[in-house]
Amino acid sequence: MADAVILDLPGLQTLIDVLRTRGHHVLGPVQRDSALVLAEIDTVADLPRGVGDRQEPGTYRTRDRGDEALFGFAATAQAAKPVLFPPDELLWTGARTDTADVTAQQAMDTGKVALLGVRGCDLAAIGIQDTILAGRAAIDVHYTERRSAAFLIAVTCGTPAGTCFCASMGTGPKPGAGADLTLTELLDDAGHRFLVEPGTPAGAEVLADVPGAQATAADLAAAAAVVTDATATMGRHLPTEGLRDLLYASAESPHWEDVAQRCLACTNCTLVCPTCFCTSVEDVSDLSGDIDERHRVWDSCFTMEYSQLHGGAVRTSTSARYRQWLTHKLASWTDQFGMSGCVGCGRCVTWCPAAIDLTAEVGALRDEAAHRGADPRAAGGGRHPGAAAVPTPPEH
Ligand code: SF4
Ligand code: SF4
Repeated sequence: MADAVILDLPGLQTLIDVLRTRGHHVLGPVQRDSALVLAEIDTVADLPRGVGDRQEPGTYRTRDRGDEALFGFAATAQAAKPVLFPPDELLWTGARTDTADVTAQQAMDTGKVALLGVRGCDLAAIGIQDTILAGRAAIDVHYTERRSAAFLIAVTCGTPAGTCFCASMGTGPKPGAGADLTLTELLDDAGHRFLVEPGTPAGAEVLADVPGAQATAADLAAAAAVVTDATATMGRHLPTEGLRDLLYASAESPHWEDVAQRCLACTNCTLVCPTCFCTSVEDVSDLSGDIDERHRVWDSCFTMEYSQLHGGAVRTSTSARYRQWLTHKLASWTDQFGMSGCVGCGRCVTWCPAAIDLTAEVGALRDEAAHRGADPRAAGGGRHPGAAAVPTPPEH
C-alpha cells in the first residue's frame, strides 16, 4: 500500500476534483439551517469551515469554533445510511392497460457516490450493514449495488461530542478498516493540512492522482495526538464487559417500565441509528387505480405495528419495545451477526426528545443487577467459575 501523504487545502480540492472526474458524486458534511448534514459538494468551500457542534442528551447545536477546521465536529445528523439504504425506495411500478397489467422492476440508480468525512463509528456501521444487507444468502440488491460503487473517505474524529462513546465500542475516534482513504485534519503551527492514508488499492489509485508531500514523522505524531486527545475527551463511556449477559439477565427488570415512563415511542432513535435496518413495504396507487407503486420504507421496532403477528401485536407496551431495541442492539445482535449492533455514535442520545441516554440506562441496569447480586458478570466483573447460567433471550 502507498505511503501516507500530506495534502493542503488546494490538495483536498484536487482530491474532490479527481473523484468527480472519475464519475463520483462527492457527498460531504455541509451546514444546513442549524445542523450539519451530508450533501453533495463541489468544492472545499462547501465544507463547514470553523463550525463545531454541541451534543448532549436531547440537544444538538452548531457552534462557532473560532478556527478554520473543516471537520471540527462529531457525528452529523444522519450517517451514510440514507445514502446507501434510502428511507423510501421505489421497488416497482405497475400499470393497468386495456390489454394487460404491466409491472416494471424499478431500475436502480447507477450514480456512484464518494462519501467524504465518514467518522469511525459510521464506517463501522457501514461494515455492519455490509454484513447484514450484502453479506448473507439473500442480499439486498439495491444496497449492494450502491455500496460496491461507493468510495469512502473516512476522517479521524478530533472533537467528539458529549454523547459520543465510540472509544468504548472500539470503532473510533481513529477509523478502522474499510475506508478507501483515511484523512486526519491537522491544524497547528505547521499549518492547516491533512494526513491522508490509503486503505484499499482503489484508495491508493485515487491518491496517486493527487499531488501531495510525503508525511513526516512530525505529521504522523501530530495525527496520533489528535486520536489521543479525542479519546481523552470522549463524552460518554459504556463498559462492554458482560454486556450481552447483563441484557439477557435483565429481561424482567422493573427498569424497562421506568424508561417507558419517559419514552415517547417516537422512533427517532432508530431513524438516526446508522445500524438499524428494519423496513416495511407500502403499496400506493393513483386515484384511478391504474398505476401502482411498491415502496420499501424504513420502519421501527418502537411502533406497535412492527410487532404485529397473526392475532395481534406481540410487543404492546413501550417498555417491551424499548427492551426489545436495547436488547437487540447490545445482546441478541451479537448472537445473530457476531458483532455489536451499536457503534457508539451517540445519535440516539442526542436526538431523543426525552433525553433518554443508552449509556445511562445500561448503567441503571448494571446497578440494579449488582444490587440484586443476580449475576456477578452483570455487575462489571468477569466470568468466574460457577457463575449462574445466563437466561435465554426473552420472548417478546
Ligand atoms: S428512546 Fe427517545 S428517541 Fe427512542 S423512541 Fe423513546 S423517546 Fe423516541
Ligand atoms: S444505538 Fe445509538 S449510539 Fe449505538 S449506533 Fe445506534 S444511534 Fe449510535
